Amino acid sequence: MEATEQARFRELLNEQRDALRRQLEDMGADPEDPNIESMDFDFGFADSAQSTAERNKVLAVIERLREGLHDVELALDKLDKGTYGLCERCGEPIGLERLEALPAARLCLSCKQKEG
Ligand SMILES: [Zn+2]
Repeated sequence: MEATEQARFRELLNEQRDALRRQLEDMGADPEDPNIESMDFDFGFADSAQSTAERNKVLAVIERLREGLHDVELALDKLDKGTYGLCERCGEPIGLERLEALPAARLCLSCKQKEG
């Protein structure tokens, strides 16, 4: 991959990382603390069943954001190591088009499809 392309993807990934961290913080999650179960929620619901359902929904969203953040950080790490843009499974280039759509992609399209 060209250095100019790497710089461009680094910028994209940095933006995504900032956005994901902001979203986590907005939801009251600490991006540095992987232990989301310890979070203390107060939704102000009198009905505890509804409160539990709401809490689980929020936890699911936080988990997705965290996974996204993890992938973005891995991608940034790979940029530093010079392995960015290579499929983690087959080692082939992931392809610019796919990276444009998903800068933190870890697998090439055919490996991703095989993974199901
Ligand atoms: Zn692959």
